[in-house]
Amino acid sequence: MTTNCLFCKIVAGDITSDTTYEDDDVIVFNDIKPMAKVHFLIVPKLHLESLKSCDKAHQALLGKMLLLAPKLADEQGLKGFKTLINTGREGGQEVFHLHVHVFGGGLPTV
Ligand code: AMP
Ligand code: ZN
Repeated sequence: MTTNCLFCKIVAGDITSDTTYEDDDVIVFNDIKPMAKVHFLIVPKLHLESLKSCDKAHQALLGKMLLLAPKLADEQGLKGFKTLINTGREGGQEVFHLHVHVFGGGLPTV
């Protein structure tokens, strides 16, 4: 766990979240400020600052996160969805712990 990382605190259970899925590697929770009817975040339990911090060692984890998107979207009854990964301040990232946004049911203009 990285001190002062919001998502690490959620992973540790120190901050509550509206969690919809969890396994050994990832946690999924609803975004606190949803930009669509359905808006959840797929978050690795491992602290990785952003996609830029990833390398070949994280390939399986990244693949797992992406494959979870259609599975969880399907469970929410979505026929389609949008994914987003903001990387770096210039890329619109605000929480510096890697996460995949999944939007559905009325899509945002991102
Ligand atoms: P990003 O701009 O890609 O870093 O997105 C960070 C996202 O985290 C934003 O959509 C926030 O609304 C969301 N967020 C911030 N704090 C929380 C929280 N405590 N629980 C759930 N989502 C959060
Ligand atoms: Zn973290």
